[in-house]
Amino acid sequence: MSANRKKIVIIGGGITGLSAAFYLEKEMKEKALPIDCTLIEASPRLGGKIQTIHKDGYVIERGPDSFLERKKSATELAEQLGFGENLVNNATGQSYVLVDEKLHPIPEGAVMGIPTKLSPFIKTGLFSVFGKARASLDLILPASEAKGDRSLGEFFRRRVGDEVVENLIEPLLSGIYAGDIDKLSLMSTFPQFYQIEQKHRSLILGMKKGRQPVGPKPAKKKGGMFQTINTGLHTMVEAIENRLESTKIYKGTRAVQIERQQGKYLIELDNGQQILADAAIVASPHKSISSLFGHKEELDYLKSMTSTSVANVALGFPDSAVEMEHEGTGFVISRNSDFAITACTWTNKKWPHTAPKGKTLLRAYVGKAGDESIVEQSDSEIVRIVLDDLKRIMKISGDPEMVSVTRWNESMPQYNVGHKQKMKEIRDTFSRSFPGIFLAGASFDGVGIPDCIDQGNLAVNEIIEYLTKAN
Ligand SMILES: Cc1cc2nc3c(=O)[nH]c(=O)nc-3n(C[C@H](O)[C@H](O)[C@H](O)COP(=O)(O)OP(=O)(O)OC[C@H]3O[C@@H](n4cnc5c(N)ncnc54)[C@H](O)[C@@H]3O)c2cc1C
Repeated sequence: MSANRKKIVIIGGGITGLSAAFYLEKEMKEKALPIDCTLIEASPRLGGKIQTIHKDGYVIERGPDSFLERKKSATELAEQLGFGENLVNNATGQSYVLVDEKLHPIPEGAVMGIPTKLSPFIKTGLFSVFGKARASLDLILPASEAKGDRSLGEFFRRRVGDEVVENLIEPLLSGIYAGDIDKLSLMSTFPQFYQIEQKHRSLILGMKKGRQPVGPKPAKKKGGMFQTINTGLHTMVEAIENRLESTKIYKGTRAVQIERQQGKYLIELDNGQQILADAAIVASPHKSISSLFGHKEELDYLKSMTSTSVANVALGFPDSAVEMEHEGTGFVISRNSDFAITACTWTNKKWPHTAPKGKTLLRAYVGKAGDESIVEQSDSEIVRIVLDDLKRIMKISGDPEMVSVTRWNESMPQYNVGHKQKMKEIRDTFSRSFPGIFLAGASFDGVGIPDCIDQGNLAVNEIIEYLTKAN
């Protein structure tokens, strides 16, 4: 990179844009890079989907509540920000799936719905004898010869049959994307299942092998596979903001247009200001991107990509007001049931820091692909519907003493079949028409918080490489 200072703009101050800013500053310091960075965020606050509220002693996550520890980058970022002591794993407990008005324990050994232990699978009342027999065909079916992408539904239905898909796999997997399992892309969501099939032929045998410990027995784990920060995930956002020393941050300011001008980019903001940048990371949701670049044809796919609207309702009660016949941390609901809620977490059992002593915090979710109209109802109507559903499943006496409804309109990007290939094409054509602009975030290469952090970090490496080569 030449001694001339370079200007980088990051658009979007969700976790993707924030991690990009954080890792960019780190690189700038470590390598003495002559870069000025500006972060533009449309809303008055940073964090995007990460929002925590503290209410009557409850810690309520309005968006994500945790992240997968296995994917490392969120844990590492939290540790770098000084939250090592505040990182907690979820308490493990029995989870259930509701089918035909009845809660069934998720069979022990089921990994994302694929059985890896025989006895719990044989004993469960979740599937009929026919359903179990059909699932066991996975043991003898050859690996699929079809190459390329297909829907999760097509893939799993072929291997283990409709019943296991509809009563277990679908409620577990679709919840993550609020998507339709028969449209969601296998290769963009859970490519590991495809790889297991290719390597081991049978998913059941492959997953079973994957669960055998290799080498010395690992130390006993302190909890489940998810982590969060016990002061609320938003404290991570605040910590990044406080750590950013040289990045200029504009909040409540929207980028409205990006135009290529003599090898640079003129970025127009909704306050009338213009910034001339050498390169930019665009970390805003896909819907906003096409218009930023003047509706270029190569971005048509982003225009057509859908996002599901969801809402969640946090309900606080005295412990004595809620009783569930089954001890557990929550349940998901099969699509074949006539419930509006898609899942419910007994949040304080899973995350003890989220409720004061003597209180119960439930968090119920509504809205799924193709059935989102409930999200448009009033708060009181959503709460009524949720409570009516919950009372069919557990004993609840009296009204909740704390209620918090959060709507997320068009918030869950749908990675439908072909997404990965489309993104590759966009990146290829985009890098020719707009060299130096890098797309990152939940709309592209993974929706989980660690995926977003990885994308922010990768975009930093790419942008530095670009600026270095450009000189
Ligand atoms: C209800 C819900 C629950 C979830 N639960 C989990 C979970 O438990 N674990 C997990 O890992 N993930 C979860 N996710 C997914 C995860 O939270 C998101 O994928 C991730 O936070 C997205 O981060 P992002 O920075 O890519 O996008 P966002 O958080 O959407 O941030 C994008 C930012 O860009 C800004 N912006 C938009 N347009 C412009 C513009 N033109 N100019 C400037 N700024 C702009 C927006 O205001 C926003 O702040 C959940 C998501 C939702 C909605």
